[in-house]
Amino acid sequence: MMPLNLSELISEEKVTAKIQEIGQKITDQFSGEEVTAICILKGSFMYYADLVRAIDLDIQCEFIGVSSYNGQTQSSGEVKVTLDLTTPLEGKNVVLIEDIVDTGLTMNFLKKMIMARMPKQLVTTSLLLKPAALKTDCTIDHVGFEIDNRFVVGYGLDYQGYYRNLPYVAQAQDFN
Ligand code: 5GP
Repeated sequence: MMPLNLSELISEEKVTAKIQEIGQKITDQFSGEEVTAICILKGSFMYYADLVRAIDLDIQCEFIGVSSYNGQTQSSGEVKVTLDLTTPLEGKNVVLIEDIVDTGLTMNFLKKMIMARMPKQLVTTSLLLKPAALKTDCTIDHVGFEIDNRFVVGYGLDYQGYYRNLPYVAQAQDFN
């Protein structure tokens, strides 16, 4: 593993508090209805696991795999579905859960793909958003934190497959 020069950007405590807030908002938004929560693999697994536990509703858990970065620090601009959902979304309340929105290409690609499956409602959330990196209009219903256009790892986010298990979000000094 290539060691990165890291500094903490968002502490575990701040992440936890924000997730409780977003979980409560989603609970209120769908009040008493059932939802299907979609985890965008791999990076969202940690945010997803914490967020679904903060949503007090009947939940079905689904997973979708996409890749766009190929282990590099710049977006390739290409979105590939590597694992599809196992259940139809027609008529369902869907919560799409992303770790980070950078160019916005992945989120917009998935929103379009999900809307084509005719859900009752689609709500999107991303723990992190880099407003300065957006290359397309991309509206997200619940954003955890807006951050600078710098490469980050931890809390599910990787560099070359590593660092996903850090319990906080860290900025890599080695890039940008
Ligand atoms: P977008 O399509 O918005 O450019 O990129 C979304 C995906 O790129 C995220 O799901 C994530 O996997 C990856 N990504 C974007 N920015 C970063 C970053 O700063 N660090 C890491 N580790 N991945 C990122």
